[in-house]
Amino acid sequence: MNVNYEILRKRMVDEQLISRGIKDRRMLDAFSKVERHKFIPVDLRASAYADFPVPIGEGQTISQPYIVALMTECLGLTGKEKVLEIGTGSGYQTAILAELAKEVYSIERLPGLVKKVEPLLNELGYANIKIKCADGSLGWPEAAPFDRIIITAASPQIPWPLSEQLKENGRMLLPLGETFSQVLTQIEKRDNKLHAIQVCACVFVPLVGKYGWQKQK
Ligand code: SAM
Repeated sequence: MNVNYEILRKRMVDEQLISRGIKDRRMLDAFSKVERHKFIPVDLRASAYADFPVPIGEGQTISQPYIVALMTECLGLTGKEKVLEIGTGSGYQTAILAELAKEVYSIERLPGLVKKVEPLLNELGYANIKIKCADGSLGWPEAAPFDRIIITAASPQIPWPLSEQLKENGRMLLPLGETFSQVLTQIEKRDNKLHAIQVCACVFVPLVGKYGWQKQK
């Protein structure tokens, strides 16, 4: 069966993003441009533009399009920022960030995912993304500080190396809470203090690392 991904993508933008209040033109252009199906295993591509998370292998998932959009919107990107992403996963959110920020540093702990994502992002021509395979709860000290930090896995607390690596007036976004229920939380650093805003309830896979969950739950 021949699937017209362009039509599905336009429908996703209209019915899942615009209808739920995502308005920023640069963001809508990025979601219209990035071919989400390329980040999804071939046998699951029919669900690439659906309104739910999809498995990407290694027990992980690509988040629902609206959640990727909401998190990106909360970052308030203007095109000048240096962004750190923890949890590369499929690389879809990484590509969206690369469309909207100056440079993106992304960390994924599972080598099997990194092996798939790196060639894909190169093939798609993204020259402003750096990826490494490591425990992202430690951050990327050699590249710090960052204007924005986005963690796409759930943590019981804010990993302190990440708050250290966030610039003054910078912003961090992460799902904070228990294993099966969290609150998407926006953190702002002002006068070297962290200020938290709760965005909405959410459910993410765990951040497994020294400053996240110690073991896979
Ligand atoms: N944003 C991704 C996308 O667009 O496909 C989805 C990310 S998925 C919900 C969360 C990812 O975080 C998984 O790939 C998981 O392996 C990764 N992860 C969990 N703990 C991590 C850690 N300590 N460091 C780096 N990545 C981690």
